[in-house]
Amino acid sequence: MMFRAKLLALKKQIVEKHVFGEMAAYVYVVEFRKRGLPHVHFLIILKNGYKLKWLIDYAKFVSAEIPTMANPSLRNIVLKHMMHRPCGKLNPECSCIKNSKTHGRCKYEYPKSFTPATTTNIAGYHEYRRQNSGETTLIRKYQLDN
Ligand SMILES: [Zn+2]
Repeated sequence: MMFRAKLLALKKQIVEKHVFGEMAAYVYVVEFRKRGLPHVHFLIILKNGYKLKWLIDYAKFVSAEIPTMANPSLRNIVLKHMMHRPCGKLNPECSCIKNSKTHGRCKYEYPKSFTPATTTNIAGYHEYRRQNSGETTLIRKYQLDN
């Protein structure tokens, strides 16, 4: 029931409050992961004039950094739910290493390099800004950063 309440709140922000801009169309699907944990995929098609065209447009909505202390609620949510667990040299027994076909490297390519600004790589994928703030935080016995 909590998931449904959060989904409806998110949908309201997107569909009624237009947090990403006015939409031409949208669709979403709810999927269930291991142990039945639900998640949602949204496809949102924005109207002309609201489409994200430049890297700076994406930076308004996407962040790969740990939120600062200026937003403690968001920071706590990110630290609790969004951090990739310690892997690689810190934790070679991690499932992203053990099950990887990349010979001892993380299949999600962590740890990621610091990047001063969002860019597009040679394959056309965005590499989101991850500034080296010098800050670390304790996650599962290890100090992790952006
Ligand atoms: Zn990993």
